[in-house]
Amino acid sequence: MEEVKEVVIVGGGIGGLAAACGLGKLGKKVTLLEQAEEFGEVGAGLQVGPNGLRALDTLGVLDEVYKHAVFPRRHVFKDAITGKELSALVFGETFRERYGYPYIVIHRTDLHTVLLEACRSLDNITFKSNHRLLEVTEHDDHVELLCANGAVIRAEMVVGADGINSNTRKLISNDKLVPSEYVAYRFTVSASEMKLDIDWDEKFTWIGPGIHLVQYPVRHKSVINQVAVFKSQSFKDGSDNCGTVEELHQMFGNSCPTIRESLKFAEQGMVTKLFDRDPLDNWTSKRVTLLGDAAHPMLQYLAQGACQAIEDAVCLTRVMSENSDIDKVLSLYQEERIPRTAQVQRGARQWGEIKHAEDPTTILLRNTIMENRDAEDFKYLDWLYSKRTAPAAISLAQQ
Ligand SMILES: Cc1cc2nc3c(=O)[nH]c(=O)nc-3n(C[C@H](O)[C@H](O)[C@H](O)COP(=O)(O)OP(=O)(O)OC[C@H]3O[C@@H](n4cnc5c(N)ncnc54)[C@H](O)[C@@H]3O)c2cc1C
Repeated sequence: MEEVKEVVIVGGGIGGLAAACGLGKLGKKVTLLEQAEEFGEVGAGLQVGPNGLRALDTLGVLDEVYKHAVFPRRHVFKDAITGKELSALVFGETFRERYGYPYIVIHRTDLHTVLLEACRSLDNITFKSNHRLLEVTEHDDHVELLCANGAVIRAEMVVGADGINSNTRKLISNDKLVPSEYVAYRFTVSASEMKLDIDWDEKFTWIGPGIHLVQYPVRHKSVINQVAVFKSQSFKDGSDNCGTVEELHQMFGNSCPTIRESLKFAEQGMVTKLFDRDPLDNWTSKRVTLLGDAAHPMLQYLAQGACQAIEDAVCLTRVMSENSDIDKVLSLYQEERIPRTAQVQRGARQWGEIKHAEDPTTILLRNTIMENRDAEDFKYLDWLYSKRTAPAAISLAQQ
């Protein structure tokens, strides 16, 4: 049995590291448990909107993040079948002035490494890889964590940042994953291999009935990150062999030549069946709370899962800087974060429905709205990106 730790964070993904960074900078003694042999990140690209950048700024890592980022000029929405441009968002001065930050795309490993390095620079953070949490047991004055390697760790407070299949969450809820019936292929291609007449200063989302494709550059535009998403009949039927590459090509069969050319590389990709969960109205049990995908797993259609996890970390850091009582910390944290993240979870589902619309009347209405909006009209984004809706910042430099 190990000595009692001050704060144990379960999971060394982007959410867990962001929380460790914030709490570590506050001076808390943090122990970070990770099931993998090494701290790392899977997948390739990540979009980070102004709200995510604001949170990274609070954590003091923004300059490092910007060194690895690509700053797209526009987000262009195109019809996946006709190839016609439907709408765009210009990430120029107006956007930056409105939200205080730009919009970036970045390799996941690069963002993860920046956070990991920030944590490693703090000597009050202990890293324990190869520690897969199996079970959490609560006692009056501490929590016990049983790991698959036999370790039993005692903690004053636990933050479960162990992702969509969180074992920590089982202490709080026995809810089930909600299958979306959609499958994602995530793949990267070297920019020089992409024989397409595309301006990689921009980010593209191609939308069509039951399909969409996202494309953007990372790593100084040397690599193109692509995510092809489609409604899978075999996922719906409950087949284990769902989302085959044949099904991908069949679903994108009517798409425009640029998409079909891009999908030639899809076979190299990582296939993910897409699930989320319904929002919970409680994340906390005595000394244990949840953060990131463990708390609010969402479909990726608003590109917000990691951004919300980093916002969680900032909020938790702020309430811990202002309160010492764990009960109070955890209730203030979830009071602030549950409404915000539930709105994003629901918004992501809705935006998926809009993107993937199959009914011709809905498509006509959607496209008419998109074609008639001004590229610098951001009113649909304020709820997500504006400072008003994000966690208040805290100056960690003064702690
Ligand atoms: C196709 C796709 C595209 C996306 N694009 C974006 C985007 O552009 N922008 C954005 O903001 N978000 C995006 N997301 C969402 C984003 O990837 C997640 O929301 C984010 O990674 C969640 O971070 P996390 O740290 O909460 O969880 P995770 O990244 O899942 O990390 C959990 C960590 O916990 C560890 N772990 C798990 N179980 C245990 C255990 N029992 N014991 C110990 N350790 C454990 C895991 O190994 C992992 O390291 C996307 C998601 C998908 C699927």
